[in-house]
Amino acid sequence: MKKKIAILGSTGSIGKSTLEVIKKDKKNFDVVLLTANNNYKKLIQQAKEFKVKNVLIKNNSFYSKVKNSLKKTKTKVFSAETNLGSIFSGKLDYTMSAIVGVAGLQPTVDAIKFSKTIAIANKETIICGWEILSKHLKKHKTKMLPIDSEHFSILELTKNVNNEAIDEIIITASGGPFLNIPKKKMINVKPEEATKHPNWKMGKKISVDSANLMNKVFEVIEATKIFNFNKKKYRIVIHPQSYVHSIVRFRNGLIKMILYNTDMKIPISNTLYSYKGENYQKKTKMIDTNTLNKMTFLNVDTKRFPSLKLIDKCLNSGRLTPTIVNASNEVLVDLFLAKKIGFLDIVKTINKIFKDKEFKKYAKRNPRSLKDVEMVDNWARLKTLSMCVR
Ligand code: NAD
Ligand code: MG
Repeated sequence: MKKKIAILGSTGSIGKSTLEVIKKDKKNFDVVLLTANNNYKKLIQQAKEFKVKNVLIKNNSFYSKVKNSLKKTKTKVFSAETNLGSIFSGKLDYTMSAIVGVAGLQPTVDAIKFSKTIAIANKETIICGWEILSKHLKKHKTKMLPIDSEHFSILELTKNVNNEAIDEIIITASGGPFLNIPKKKMINVKPEEATKHPNWKMGKKISVDSANLMNKVFEVIEATKIFNFNKKKYRIVIHPQSYVHSIVRFRNGLIKMILYNTDMKIPISNTLYSYKGENYQKKTKMIDTNTLNKMTFLNVDTKRFPSLKLIDKCLNSGRLTPTIVNASNEVLVDLFLAKKIGFLDIVKTINKIFKDKEFKKYAKRNPRSLKDVEMVDNWARLKTLSMCVR
């Protein structure tokens, strides 16, 4: 039987890579739902190419365009108001959660109910809503697999391993496009430069997060949510070649690392084929000794990348601190991409929000529902805007 697949955020970098994997093995997969925000042209093309049963376009101004273009096909078209859960009766085999930002939280929660397995690339969803997501995962007996390359690797390295067996978990960072430029020059970098990642082709938001290493702040928080290891065991190490994705130092003297090419199709395909109870059996490229010989590792200079000091603050200042930092960062990245603020203002402004007199009140809340997360997210967005727009 064909495996039923849904992709939330199918027109983005992760969404497209997921469809590329499926395209090579169409006979085994049935794409039953794709969703997108603005890129209606890509959504229409994907719907036709994969004979998709249902599509949802979030931005309602494009709804009629999608509806008209697909009227001669069997694809049903849904608008933003549709509750994803109402589209399906039974459970799908696999859903890829690949929307960017906390906007993906509600759709991911909805998808857990109708998916046997949910693969989550959308790290903002994990760091802001894990308390709620994990309850739903348990309730609906849905399996969660992380797609972020470092977390996918940590999971591979720590299957059946408990906290006591591990001394340290290293998450590698490429260092982004500004690894070797002096801090003074970072003041004036432009969005086009910040989004030019040396190793990965990704969406704009995560590319900016990678340029100032906020992405690593989020990834440590993401790891502390997903895995039950002591949060003090995580460390960031710069590895410009992005060939090693994570390293685990065990108490028994062994150190293990996972290496693979910078291609998100590797974690995606491995999770997509996990239903076979085995990992994806595709030929791995010959190991290039040149690549191995050129591998380098460096400690992070927090003077140049002060974002990393936010990790401890995020982990020790209340459960909803990650939600506040994430919301603030989403607003600031948008302002930077619109050329309204400078590159270094992103981390500077996030630090300011910790000093706000209302910060503690919101950060210390215990999130019981998505509404609690939403409320704190809204507060942080408005506060951040008020700090930038004078
Ligand atoms: P992207 O910007 O390329 O794509 C985002 C997708 O989300 C698009 O399909 C867009 O239509 C959809 N979307 C955006 N806003 C939406 C909204 N309000 N409602 C519904 N849909 C919306 O982003 P990406 O690079 O594919 O990243 C997606 C997620 O995966 C991010 O959370 C990112 O951190 C994570 N991730 C990405 C990579 C990568 O290599 N790209 C690696 C690791 C983790
Ligand atoms: Mg990553």
